[in-house]
Amino acid sequence: IPQDYQPAANALQGKTILVTGASDGIGRSAALSFAAHGATVILLGRDVKKLEEVYDLIEAAGGPQPAAIPFDLSQDNEEAFIELARVIEAQLGKLDGLLLNASILGQRRALEQSAWNDWRDVLQVNVHSQFLTVKSLMPLLREAPKASVVFTSSGVGRTGRAYWGAYAVSKFATEGMMQVLASETENTSNIRVNCINPGATNTAMRRAAYPAEEPSSNPSPQDIMRSYLYLMDDCSEDKTGYSFNAQ
Ligand code: NDP
Repeated sequence: IPQDYQPAANALQGKTILVTGASDGIGRSAALSFAAHGATVILLGRDVKKLEEVYDLIEAAGGPQPAAIPFDLSQDNEEAFIELARVIEAQLGKLDGLLLNASILGQRRALEQSAWNDWRDVLQVNVHSQFLTVKSLMPLLREAPKASVVFTSSGVGRTGRAYWGAYAVSKFATEGMMQVLASETENTSNIRVNCINPGATNTAMRRAAYPAEEPSSNPSPQDIMRSYLYLMDDCSEDKTGYSFNAQ
């Protein structure tokens, strides 16, 4: 991220951006931050109450009216993702940005101790749902003048580490999906595809992974928004195929 990058107040004006996992943690902050910079955000998550809270905060702050779509990414059903794209096209008419942020941690165990159900759930939410979301939304993204797809990685998606099991494997797959899609769209001047590793951030997921850690020793989601804004801002239009660190 260029050191001198400072998002303009209206950096994302006129853009429509889907954020998965917008109900909590980093996705919630990204949705609030995108809206504060002028974007119409589509909030996707499971927890309707938490989605409504984010919706209300955006409205109260005077941001563009968002859309909230309760959706369970653990469903193994391509038709549901096709319907999701239909709803977005019908309600919003376009899509300029896609932040694939939702994921689950799963069990923190050695591979040989990991439960098959847990492995499957983690790969479904963290990998398969991203493929289905991207696949169903590519036609809309192709129509955008400048579209940005941002995947969410992790340190354990670059170097494997004991007891990070399916989660680590899912993040390697995420980095791989980003590279494949970036390569496929390399000659498509209007679509860029990148990845962000947020780094240790004080969210429910981090607190679950490190219960003994003092939560406030890590930055809050609001503290790491600069790189998220940069990748959705047209100033990053020449960046594709990169894996960024938010910290
Ligand atoms: P949180 O657990 O705080 O939030 C996860 C979000 O994903 C929630 O909004 C949750 O929605 C959503 N989600 C989970 N499962 C589903 C599902 N089946 N369907 C729909 N939505 C779902 O996580 P973080 O904010 O910490 O993490 C965000 C991203 O950053 C993740 O990809 C994570 O792997 C990555 N990351 C985080 C780090 C950290 O230190 N926090 C470090 C490195 C990477 P709901 O509440 O509605 O279920």
